[in-house]
Amino acid sequence: MNHQISTSRIQQDMELFEQFTSTPGQGITRLPFTVDVRGCVTKLTERMKSAGLAVYEDAAGNLVGRKAGVYPDAPALIIGSHIDSVKSGGNFDGMAGIIVGLEVVRMLRDAGITLNHPIEVMATHDEEGMRFGTGFFGTKAMMGEVDEEYLHRYKDADGVSIYDAMICYGLDPHRIKEAARDYEREIAAFFEVHIEQGPVLENTNTQLGLVDCIVGMQRYMITVTGRPDHAGTTPMDMRVDAMDCASQVIAQVSKLAVEASSDSTVATVGFAKVEPCAMNIVPQEVTFSLDVRSKKQQDIDDIVAKVREELTRICGEKGATFTVDEKLNTAPAHLDEKLLKQLYQSCEKLGFSHRRMCSGAGHDALQTAPKIDTVMVFVPSKEGRSHCPVEWTEYSDLANAAMVLADTLITNYSKGGQ
Ligand SMILES: [Zn+2]
Repeated sequence: MNHQISTSRIQQDMELFEQFTSTPGQGITRLPFTVDVRGCVTKLTERMKSAGLAVYEDAAGNLVGRKAGVYPDAPALIIGSHIDSVKSGGNFDGMAGIIVGLEVVRMLRDAGITLNHPIEVMATHDEEGMRFGTGFFGTKAMMGEVDEEYLHRYKDADGVSIYDAMICYGLDPHRIKEAARDYEREIAAFFEVHIEQGPVLENTNTQLGLVDCIVGMQRYMITVTGRPDHAGTTPMDMRVDAMDCASQVIAQVSKLAVEASSDSTVATVGFAKVEPCAMNIVPQEVTFSLDVRSKKQQDIDDIVAKVREELTRICGEKGATFTVDEKLNTAPAHLDEKLLKQLYQSCEKLGFSHRRMCSGAGHDALQTAPKIDTVMVFVPSKEGRSHCPVEWTEYSDLANAAMVLADTLITNYSKGGQ
C-alpha cells in the first residue's frame, strides 16, 4: 500500500536543515541554546506550520507541532527526536526522526486522514548532552525531572550554566517546571525514528530495525588530585602522581566491561585532561570520564562500584584524593510490546525486511519509556558511521520508516482502527 510518502520532500527538508551548524563544511555542530539551534527552530516552525500544525516552544526549548484528532481530548501520539547535535556530527542523527514525523503528518493531511488522537511532531532539545555533559534535557524536562537546581548544577566548558544559557537563548529558567507534561493524561505513545548509528542493518541487508530495548547508561567525571613536583628531582617514593593513580584505574575499565555478564556491556574513558600538563612536572591533577552502558543494570552498577573501589585503594596507597561527579544515570529501557507488534504488522504488510534489536546508544526514548508507551524504529547507517561528518542514510530508507509509521497510525489510531 502506498501512503504517498514523498522521498523528495524528505530529502529537501534534510538538506534544508544542514545549514544550521557552527562548523560549515566540517559536519553538523548544533549545540543546545545557541544561535544554531535557534535558527533551526525558526525554520522548523515554518515547515511545521506549512504542514498544518499548531506550533509552540515549551519552557525547555522543545519544539512541538500539533494537529488535533477526531477526539480532541484524547492523549497525543508523539513522533519525536532531537534537534541538537554533537560536535562535527552528521546531518541525520536526530533530525531524521523529526523530518520523518513531519512527512507522516503531511501524508496524513494529503490523504485527508484525521487520526482519533491528536498527533504531535516534537523536536527535543539538548539530547546529546554535548555542551553541559548531561543529556536528554528536553525529554527529562517534559517528564518533570528538571528543576531550577539542575539548571544551576551543570555548566559548559566556559563556565556558563544551563540556567544562564537559557536566558541567553530567550527562555525563562524560572518556568522550567512548565515544560513538564501530565503524561498519563496527555500522551498515548512516543515514537522515535532514528538512524541506527551502527552496522547491523546494513550488514544484514535489513531495511528497518524494530528496537525493543535501549541500554542503560551511567556517566561520571572523575578527578584524581596529587601534588605537582619537579619531575627530575623528586624521588619516586616521595611523589603523589595523579597520572600514576588515574592510569592504573583507567587501565582496568575495558577489562571490567569485557568480563561483565552481558555482551551488551561496554565501558569507555573517552576524555582525559592533565594538569599542569607539562613534560617535566609530576601531574597534579587528572580528570577523566567514565561512560558505562549495558542492557543489564547489574553490570553497570558492578563496574561503577569496582572503579570506586579501585580509586579508593590506589589513591589511598599513594596519598592522592579523588572526586566522582555523576553526570548521567539512566536505567535500561524495554520498549512497548504492543507498539512493536503494530510496527511489525505494518512491516509485514508493506513488505519491508525488519529485525528486532537493542540500541547501544542512548535516545530520548530512554527517558519516556518507563512512563509512556514508547517504541523506536531504526534505519540503516552507511557503514555504521555516526557522530561524524560522513554519517549517511539513504533518503529512501527514511521514507520506508515514514511509510511504516504512517501505516501503523492509520491502522491502529484512525476510524475503523481502535
Ligand atoms: Zn541521536
